[in-house]
Formats: sequence, structure tokens, C-alpha cells
Amino acid sequence: MSTEIPKLFGSLVFNDEVMRNKLPNDIYKALKKTIQNGTHLELDVANSVAVAMKEWAVELGATHYSHWFQPMTGFTAEKHDSFINIAGDGHVIMEFSGKELVKGEPDASSFPSGGLRATFEARGYTAWDPTSPAFIKDKTLYIPTAFCSYSGEALDKKTPLLRSMEALNEQAVKMLHLLGNKTITGVNITVGPEQEYFLIDKDMYKKRKDLIFCGRTLIGAPAPKGQEMDDHYFGILKPRVSAFMHELDEELWKLGIPSKTKHNEVAPAQHEMAPIFENVNIATDHNQLTMEIMRRIADKHNLICLLHEKPFAGINGSGKHNNWSISTNDGVNLLKPGRTPAQNIQFLVFLMAVIKAVDDYADLMRVSAASAGNDHRLGGNEAPPAIVSIFLGDELNAVLKSIENDTYFGKQEKIEMNIGANVLPHFFRDTTDRNRTSPFAFTGNKFEFRMVGSAASVSGPNIILNTAVAESLAQFYTELDGTEPEDMEHAVHELIKRAIRKHKKVIFDGNGYTDEWVKEAEARGLYNLPTTPDCMPYFISEKNINLFTKHHIFTKEEILSRYEIQLETYVKTIVIEARTMVDIISKDLLPAINSFAATTAKEAAETKAYLPNISCTAQDALIRRLTSDYTDMTNLIDKLKHELTQLGGISSMQGAADYCRDKIIVTMNEIRTIADDAEAAIPNDFLPYPTYEELLFYL
Ligand code: ADP
Ligand code: MG
Repeated sequence: MSTEIPKLFGSLVFNDEVMRNKLPNDIYKALKKTIQNGTHLELDVANSVAVAMKEWAVELGATHYSHWFQPMTGFTAEKHDSFINIAGDGHVIMEFSGKELVKGEPDASSFPSGGLRATFEARGYTAWDPTSPAFIKDKTLYIPTAFCSYSGEALDKKTPLLRSMEALNEQAVKMLHLLGNKTITGVNITVGPEQEYFLIDKDMYKKRKDLIFCGRTLIGAPAPKGQEMDDHYFGILKPRVSAFMHELDEELWKLGIPSKTKHNEVAPAQHEMAPIFENVNIATDHNQLTMEIMRRIADKHNLICLLHEKPFAGINGSGKHNNWSISTNDGVNLLKPGRTPAQNIQFLVFLMAVIKAVDDYADLMRVSAASAGNDHRLGGNEAPPAIVSIFLGDELNAVLKSIENDTYFGKQEKIEMNIGANVLPHFFRDTTDRNRTSPFAFTGNKFEFRMVGSAASVSGPNIILNTAVAESLAQFYTELDGTEPEDMEHAVHELIKRAIRKHKKVIFDGNGYTDEWVKEAEARGLYNLPTTPDCMPYFISEKNINLFTKHHIFTKEEILSRYEIQLETYVKTIVIEARTMVDIISKDLLPAINSFAATTAKEAAETKAYLPNISCTAQDALIRRLTSDYTDMTNLIDKLKHELTQLGGISSMQGAADYCRDKIIVTMNEIRTIADDAEAAIPNDFLPYPTYEELLFYL
């Protein structure tokens, strides 16, 4: 079987090999040109590709095709059409045209548009993205597409990502040419998103309304054991988990998704999958698919895959570490300290461009990771804090310091990275990342953005990274433009010196989880934006609108619409959680408290009847405690219901989100504290839902 893997890999993908085999040579060449250079595709080429795609798909059992897109819900969307058509003689034939391949017209009116719909028509278009390969799933040919409104506004997560890739490509190539690397015609932005998730038993899941409606537990007393023994991380896989992972890998491989690493994570029942990195557009599509396949394969194994950022209180939540780098089209990773002086000048310029980007646009980075779910995680003791800072490691810090202070960098151990002349320091490759608390860490040849939530599309974070780095490079270009080649090294040295002085405040190698860091970050003037409503106003600041419009990532209208949608999603999430809390407390927990209190009372009465002289003070105290919890929770549930009514009267989305943060979440937290106290006193038999202990340890 294992020898078959190379054959299995990508077997459901209309990839380069299939294209070469199935397409006439001139058509193949024309399509490749479009994929590589983004040139316009002629209709006759599209027609020819469509026929080949259909034949290939039908051979593999497909009956339908679907334009697959990524609306701003954060999920993927699809509309299925069959290939069938009625021929002139009345027979059914299987058909697929270039027009059907290139463009679809789903009704856009039921997808979030954040007000764009008020001004524009409800009609939406999907447009084929030939740079992300089509694939087969469920007897259907899936065609990755971009989704936009009738008048061209992006209504999805792919379009702005593609625009940001273009922006960064343009600036990076310009910079490389300026630095003397004239043969480069493009760069490849690479991303490897590590995906964390929980697996729990499906039968248990079905008994928890909070998991069903919110994807996370809203109440739950901690199990006697959490993650303190560090025995789960990299631990032996349980057979059910292992069977799930094997099947997951095979399904992902068939779809050409290079799943590489799998292991148990820190929290009980938590796991991780890491793929081999790919081009950012494909990696983003593949991560969306990965999440979907994870859910589906889990279901087959009578498991549920929880992708929420914080399914359980008191133990780690889940993130998605977005590993990001950029390489030239001749294969040189620009974030890898190089072997030659020229490569190291490039490395320093691109490294500094990222540092500058993160410092200038830390607010946008935070926005790109903001969601109701991820708010529970950021700042929690296991996750990167809500403050964006960069970890570089000792060696690189020393290199930058020596440039900043014009001192000689001479710690000559390990592999020397001789960059030649004396102006720029000699340095070494240091790939050790000793800091797991940093939200944005340099890990030897890439940056790892760890703030991203496990359920999120990686599109948003990469749009910001690409665009912000493009802007840094554009500014550096202006500073270096006109420099004679022989003066370039000196000019770069001076540029780095200026930039590091300006941006070093964002570099922090210490422990990001401490209170001291919060204070220091404030003194340094860094943003600390703990919640989604806190950071969203920054999305629409003048500085950030200028960035997006300058690089043609978003129009102002698109930004405003996305701002509304992100806040609206936040508010809706909190409302669903609050309603679920009302339900689970009123219908599940309160009756359980009541019947346990009644049983305790009945048994105490029987005990007393049997031994009249005995005092039942402990039973008495327990009944009083349960009754008092019952009363307090009932009152707070009334308060929560009232707050939900008040929320309905707030017209601005920002106002509603602020109200959720300041009132509703606060009340829910108060309810939870009491609920967990009560639950801890009640035997499992009395509870109509499984406890943390059962969910996390009984698989
Ligand atoms: P680490 O142990 O430091 O996390 P790994 O080599 O295990 O590093 O990689 C973690 C993730 O980073 C993987 O998904 C991997 O594919 C990805 N990655 C490695 N190199 C790059 C790169 N140049 N660009 C983007 N992602 C990368
Ligand atoms: Mg990693």
C-alpha cells in the first residue's frame, strides 16, 4: 500500500501532469502562460480545457461540477450543476463548456456583503482561478473560483489574497532588480499552516447543545486532571485517533494536500496536522479543504472534530500557525540567511521589510486574527498575547545591533555566514526558536504568525502580511533608488540602521505571557487590543485605508463592508452563545440541580427517620448551596435575556459589539462561574450532558 502513495497523491487533482496528458500542446502552453503570468485566457482555450477537464472528471466518476468559492462567512460555498444536457436527438449527453468553466452566476444576495449590496446588484459572479488546481470530491468536479459582485467588488477571501500576492510580487521583484539580482521575474509567497484541532466522541457531542450550536463548551467544571502532566504532547496516539489520522492523510493526499506531520498536542484530546508549505493561494485553498475533510472523516469514525479556538476552559485552545516566507522564482528563500554576500544583503533587506511591516501594521495583524472564538485564546495563558511583537533570536538580534551601532559583529562560531565586505557584519545561521510565547517568530527561514485562530481562513492574515511587506519594500525602494551598484552595500547598511532604530520596539524575545511584558509593551507604545471590538476600529483608520487602496487590495467600500461583516459575525456569535447558555442552563443544568437537591433532601429525610438523633448538617449545607446557585443562576439568566433585548435596540455594529464585550460576555462569565461550581457538586448521573472528564478522557 505505502508504495502506492506517490500514485495516490494528487490522484483526484487536475494537476500539471494531467493537463499535459489531456490537453493539446498549444492549449497546454496557453494555459500554463495564464497560470504563470496571469495573462488573459482566450475562450477557445477555455473551451478546450473544459472538455479535457470534463472527460477526466467523468472517467473518475464525476457527474457534476461546482464553482467553489470562499465568501466572507469564513466557510466555503458551492453550487452544483450536472454535466447533463439533452442533445438534438433527445439523448442525454455529458457537456461542459469554456463559459461554464470560466464564469458562474450564483445569487450573491444571501452571502454577507456588509452593505455593498445596498449600492450594487444582488447578482454575483464566480470566476475561475486557474492558479489553484481543480479537484474531484463527492463525484463532483470542484473549480476554485473568486467571487465578486456585479460591479466587481470582491465578496470573498480569495480575490484580495490574489491582489496582495500581485502587490508583493511587484515590489519584491523591483527590489531584487535594484539590488542587482536582475534575472528574477517573480517571487513565490509560501505558506505552511499548522492546524490544531480537538477530537471528541460523537455520541457525547450530541448531548451538548453548547458544542452543537457554538462549537465550544459554555459551561463545564474542570476534570481532576488537565494538561499539567505534559503527558499528551507528542504522546502515543489512541487507536481511534490513529485510525482517523490515517484516513485523513489518505484523503488529503488524494486531493494533493501535502499533509506531513501529525501528533498529539498539549491539551488532552488535542491534535495537530502540519502540511508541507505551498504557494499561499493554494495553501489557503488547501487549508479550507483540510478543515472540511477533517470534519467529515471524524464523522465517519463516530468522532467530532472541533476546530473552535477555545472548546474547553482551563486547557489550551487551538491555533493555526501561519508559517510564511517568500522565495525567488529561481528557488532562493529570501528569508534564509544566505551563503554569499549578495544573498545576505537580500536577506537583510527582506528581513527588515518584514520587521518594519509588522511594526507599522501591528494593528492590522491583530485585526486579521480577530474573532469571537480567538478572543478567548489570545492573552490566555497558553496562547500568544494580544500584543503583536516579533521574536528574532539572539544571533539575528546581535547582527541588527551591530549594524545599528556600527560595531563589529564577531562571534565566530558555528557556520559562518560570510557576507563579504566589512560594512555589513559577518553572521551565522541560527535556526533555533526557543520562544513559544511570541506571536510572530522568526524560525530560521520563515516567520511563524501564531495568533491566527484554528477555525479561521488563513487568507486574512496573509493578505495583511503580503500587503504590509509590499509597502515596506516600496518605501525601501524609494530610499535606495538611484544608488550606484558599488555603493549599494553601504546604502543598505545605512537603510537597515535607520529602520532598526525606528522599528526595534516591536522586537521582543522575552516571555510574552507575563504582566511585565504588558507594561513594557505599553511603555514602548505597542498596541494591546484584547478583543475583536477593541481592534476593529483600527481596520478602518486612515493609515490602513491608505495602505489597502495604494496597493489595490481593497477599495474603501470593500474595507468598510469587511469591517461591518467582521463585527456582525462577532455579534451574531455572541448572541448565539448567549441564547445557548440560556437554554443549557434553564433546561439542562437547573433541572439537574433541582433533582439532585431533592434526592439529597429525600435521602436525608429517610436517614433522619431511621436515626432521629442524627444531624444532617452536611446534606443541609449542600442543599442550601445548590439552591443558592439555582437562585443566582436564575436571576442572571433573566439579566442575560434582558441584555439580549437591549442589544437588539443598538443600531451601530460597533456599538452592538462593544455591548457584547461589556455586558453580555460579562454576564455569561458570571453564570459560568456559578454553573461550574454547581456542576462540580452534582454526580454525573444527574447531568443530562457529558462532563469535561468524559469528553476529554473517555475516548
Ligand atoms: P518548526 O519545527 O520550526 O515549526 P518545520 O520545518 O516543522 O518548522 O515547519 C513547520 C511548518 O512550516 C510546516 O508546515 C512547513 O511546511 C512550514 N515551512 C517550512 N519552510 C517554509 C517556508 N519556506 N515557507 C513557508 N512555510 C514553511
Ligand atoms: Mg512550528
